[in-house]
Amino acid sequence: MKEVWTLAEFRHGKLNPISFELLNRGKNLAQKLNTSLASVVIGYNIKKEDIDELIKRGADKVYVVDDIRLENFMVETYAKVILKLLDEYNPDIFIAAATTIGRTLMPYIAVKKQTGLTADCTVLDIEEETENLLQTRPAIGGNILATIKTPNTKPQMATVRPHSTKPSPPDKTKKGEVIYKQFDNEAFNAKTKYIKFVKDESQQINIQDAKIIVAGGRGLGKAENFKLIEELADLLGGAVGASRDVVDRGWKTYPHQIGLSGKTVSPALYIAVGISGAIQHIAGMQTSENIIAINKDPEAQIFKISNLGIVGDLHEILPLLIERIKEYKKKGAN
Ligand SMILES: Cc1cc2nc3c(=O)[nH]c(=O)nc-3n(C[C@H](O)[C@H](O)[C@H](O)COP(=O)(O)OP(=O)(O)OC[C@H]3O[C@@H](n4cnc5c(N)ncnc54)[C@H](O)[C@@H]3O)c2cc1C
Repeated sequence: MKEVWTLAEFRHGKLNPISFELLNRGKNLAQKLNTSLASVVIGYNIKKEDIDELIKRGADKVYVVDDIRLENFMVETYAKVILKLLDEYNPDIFIAAATTIGRTLMPYIAVKKQTGLTADCTVLDIEEETENLLQTRPAIGGNILATIKTPNTKPQMATVRPHSTKPSPPDKTKKGEVIYKQFDNEAFNAKTKYIKFVKDESQQINIQDAKIIVAGGRGLGKAENFKLIEELADLLGGAVGASRDVVDRGWKTYPHQIGLSGKTVSPALYIAVGISGAIQHIAGMQTSENIIAINKDPEAQIFKISNLGIVGDLHEILPLLIERIKEYKKKGAN
C-alpha cells in the first residue's frame, strides 16, 4: 500500500508543532497518490490529546509507540523502533522535519534501509507519470534548486525545512485510526547510554520560534562585541542570530547560525548587523516580515532585501539604538 508517513516529534512531554507542518506537506502528497496519510509518534507518556490533534491536523492513522525507554531521544533506539514499523508496514514515503532530531534520525534509518534520503527540502511533490516523490532543495551554495528522485528503493525519504510551509489547520470533525505498537527488549538494546540532558542556556528563546531576531556578522570584529547584539536582542525580547562566518570563527555556536547550512527563520523583525547578505545567509531569513540592516558599506547585498537600511559603523549605531530603546522603555514605564 502506498501510504505516506510523517514523523511527529514528541519531546519532553510535548508534541512539536512542526509535526503539523509535515502533515500539511503529507496531505498534499497523499491526495495526489490517492492514499492515506499516517503519522508516527514515539516517546513516553504520549497524551491522547496529542494523538487526536495529529488526526485533526490531517493524519488518517497514527502509529504510537509509548515506552519509558523512549523517554529521551537516542538515535539508535528511536531508529530501531522506527525500522521495525517500516519493515512491518512498508510505507511508500516517509518524511520528517529537518530539525536536530530529523537530521540525526533520518540518515541513520536511510542507511539501514539502504534507501535514498534528500535533506532539507523546501518543496515536495509527486511526479504524475511515475508517482515518484519529487524532492526539491537548494543546491550548489543555494544558487540552484535541485529536484531529486529515489525511484528504485522504498521508502522514499526526505527531511523538510522547518517553517517552509504553514501548519495544517485543525478539522475538529476528522476521525482517524490509532495503532498502538509495543516491542520486545531487543528493540531497545543500544550501544549508547543516555546520561543526562544539558540545555543550551546561552539561547533563552528558540531562534526559529522568535518573533524578533538580532543577528550579527563578521562586521562585529570580535566575539566580545556580540555583547551589543545580545543587549539589543534582550531589550527587544528577541533571540540572537549569527552568520556562518561568525560561527566558523567560534564567536557564536552553531544553533545560532542562520542560512542555507543553518536555520531558516521567518520572524516579524530581523535586524542584520555587520552582515553582508551573502546568498546563503539570505536563504535562511528572506521570508522575515521586516528586515533592518546596519552595515557600513552602502553597496552591501543585505540592503537589497531590507525594508530599512542604516549605513554606518555598527559600533556607533548600536550603542545609540540601545540607549534610545532604554529611554523609550523608561518613559513607557512612568
Ligand atoms: C555551501 C555554503 C553554505 C553556506 N551557509 C551559510 C549559512 O548558513 N549562513 C551564512 O550566514 N553563511 C553561509 N555561507 C557563507 C556565506 O557565503 C558568507 O561567507 C557569510 O554569510 C558571510 O558572513 P558575514 O556576512 O558575517 O561576513 P562578511 O561577508 O565578511 O560581511 C561582513 C559585513 O560587515 C560589514 N562591516 C564590517 N565592519 C563593519 C562595521 N564596523 N559596521 C557596520 N558594518 C560593518 C561589511 O561591510 C560587510 O558587509 C555558506 C557558504 C557556502 C559555500
